[in-house]
Amino acid sequence: MTTSAPTTAVRTGLALRGVTLTYPDGEHRLTALEDVELAVAPGEFAAVAGPSGSGKSSLLAVAATLLRPDRGEVLVDGVDAGALGERDRTALRRERLGIVFQQSNLLASLTAVEQLLVLESVRGRRPARARARAEELLESVGLAGAKQRRRPHQLSGGERQRVNIARALFGSPSVLLVDEPTSALDHERGAQVVELLAEVTRAHRTATVMVTHDRDLLGRADRVLTMQDGRLTTAA
Ligand code: ADP
Ligand code: MG
Repeated sequence: MTTSAPTTAVRTGLALRGVTLTYPDGEHRLTALEDVELAVAPGEFAAVAGPSGSGKSSLLAVAATLLRPDRGEVLVDGVDAGALGERDRTALRRERLGIVFQQSNLLASLTAVEQLLVLESVRGRRPARARARAEELLESVGLAGAKQRRRPHQLSGGERQRVNIARALFGSPSVLLVDEPTSALDHERGAQVVELLAEVTRAHRTATVMVTHDRDLLGRADRVLTMQDGRLTTAA
């Protein structure tokens, strides 16, 4: 099998249908997600709010095809991730998904622009074009000029988060998944990062899901959902 299914799919965003996820818990299983339904269209910015432990990161891990649910379907641009083997799932993730994890996983020794280009060495675009695109993306998230040549420790928390977002956008994903992007930032910087996510959702037509425990940051979202004990509801 090749990656033909993912690469030919129309961009329709993300859908979760009847998703249930459990983890081993001693003799039992802990239900982290229960019968979750979610559909996010291209260009839509959905926010999921919920307390710590409610299942937000689990939701993103399933949507990112990093965890397989016990039941239910995850569709990325209409492609059922559960029906794919490991290689095709990896290809789907690389070609269609942009992920900003809660823990910034920037590489300490690389400059901002290199954080993006290191992905390209796996993908094989022409180096000069890849660099131009990386610089353009960094500029579009507010990191211009000399800042692009700084290493993570020479950037502020907010700037590092911008690098993370630019990196997630580098592969032109259909779906952008963002876990607690503001947890390490003060309120104003956090609000700026959420504003940026709203902007990139419009500009890149991504189906964006941001999860957060901070209810103050939901104003820029097109839609707010609430996660409580693994259940997703539309009530804010
Ligand atoms: P949130 O991101 O909202 O804080 P999580 O998705 O991380 O919530 O966790 C949901 C529930 O699943 C919690 O009760 C948590 O302890 C549990 N959980 C998360 N990851 C694992 C894991 N790898 N193994 C077992 N339990 C887990
Ligand atoms: Mg979490």
